[in-house]
Amino acid sequence: MKTIFEPFRIKTVEPLRMTTREERINLLERADWNLFRVAADDILIDLLTDSGTGAMSAEQWAALNRGDESYAGSRSWFRFEQRVHELTGFKHIIPTHQGRAAERILFSCLGVAGKMVINNTHFDTTRANVEALGGRAVDIPVPEARIPSDESPFKGNIDLGELERLLTTAPEQIACVMITVTNNSGGGQPASLENLRAASELCHRAGIPFYLDACRFAENAWFIKMREPGCGDRTVESIAREMFSLADGATFSAKKDGLANIGGFLAAHNDQLARQEEELLILTEGFPTYGGLAGRDLEAIAVGLTEVVQEDYLRYRIAATRYLGEGLMKAGMPIVRPPGGHAVYVDAGTFLPHIPPRELPAQALACAFYVEGGVRGVEIGTLMFGGKDPATGKERVAPLELLRLAIPRRVYTQSHVDYLLEVAAEVAARRQELRGLRIVEESVHLRHFTARLAPLVG
Ligand SMILES: *Cc1c(COP(=O)(O)O)cnc(C)c1O
Repeated sequence: MKTIFEPFRIKTVEPLRMTTREERINLLERADWNLFRVAADDILIDLLTDSGTGAMSAEQWAALNRGDESYAGSRSWFRFEQRVHELTGFKHIIPTHQGRAAERILFSCLGVAGKMVINNTHFDTTRANVEALGGRAVDIPVPEARIPSDESPFKGNIDLGELERLLTTAPEQIACVMITVTNNSGGGQPASLENLRAASELCHRAGIPFYLDACRFAENAWFIKMREPGCGDRTVESIAREMFSLADGATFSAKKDGLANIGGFLAAHNDQLARQEEELLILTEGFPTYGGLAGRDLEAIAVGLTEVVQEDYLRYRIAATRYLGEGLMKAGMPIVRPPGGHAVYVDAGTFLPHIPPRELPAQALACAFYVEGGVRGVEIGTLMFGGKDPATGKERVAPLELLRLAIPRRVYTQSHVDYLLEVAAEVAARRQELRGLRIVEESVHLRHFTARLAPLVG
């Protein structure tokens, strides 16, 4: 069967509000051309992020009611811990309110100040947390990751040659090595088991901790099952377990493959490190059996972590993303290929060659999608990753100018995507008219969230 079969039926509906093109231009002007400043009610299809925007299952809603809100040692904590432990094998599980809290605690305890953190590609909050603590975030994806048209199956791999070089020349300057699975900022591309094994071995030989940024571990495991020789007959759970078994610890945002609306965890094997992490957790997040979450949140995550490895779900999830990606290509938009797990990334730099990186072509494209159809995506380019380099003081531009259309889990149907593809065709027809933007006001960290912009005329 060719139809994408959504393996669920809908029990609760949430109406969407239609707006006109004229209204949307006004709304965008009032939002200073920053889609983070547009109210969600003024969006028709919201692909800003797949983070915390998924629909929970009937089982998860039922689990919420079972939430035990005891301050210490709640039943919900034990359920959560048991599921995370079974899936990851880590000795210490530290709940956090989201992924970035896990990052801040980890990097504080590892002491990244004056040191490097090496990653295939740091996600924006990961980079910001490393830099805010005085560390240097170094990205070493494989070279093909920087070529959007390249069809390699594992463009989320880390560059092993470069990793080995860094580990042998300057091990004392490296706080830890991470691999982000799937590589969010690098197009939602997976890392292979082979690459994870090799990176783990190199790190352990050099005595450097190896971590997973595991937000999308299930999507990554599904790609391994589909693409890596010898893995086709394995369960997603067993692949995921092997991925975790290669690492000394992990950071996780339950807003992604936790299928929950909030939450996360930090995991580690090392007793001494975990004790330090728990102390910091108590100081800023909460007691170690809730970590800033309600007992009901822990329940929802525990159930989400069993649903997310189900094959019907992952088959639908990855097919839906591919459908969007192939449709965009047919509409004349170059994308990062092959389509990723949670999102499709339009290569705005190639699509809008008349807008240079410093004029934010991907942000211009994001605004065009909103104006034409009320669709909200997010710029992953120079607005997000540019700005002053804290080390050199120089203005940076991003390696790629991408518009990310991230797909909330279990929320939109195939007809929503068909509508979006009509919007894309409209935008493609007007591409010569699109103009860049300039930044009027920005913050020091994570400027894309709050920046005020203005369109360039001419
Ligand atoms: C979302 C995300 C984070 C941060 O998690 P939050 O829950 O948003 O704080 C870290 N790394 C990656 C790869 C992510 O996608």
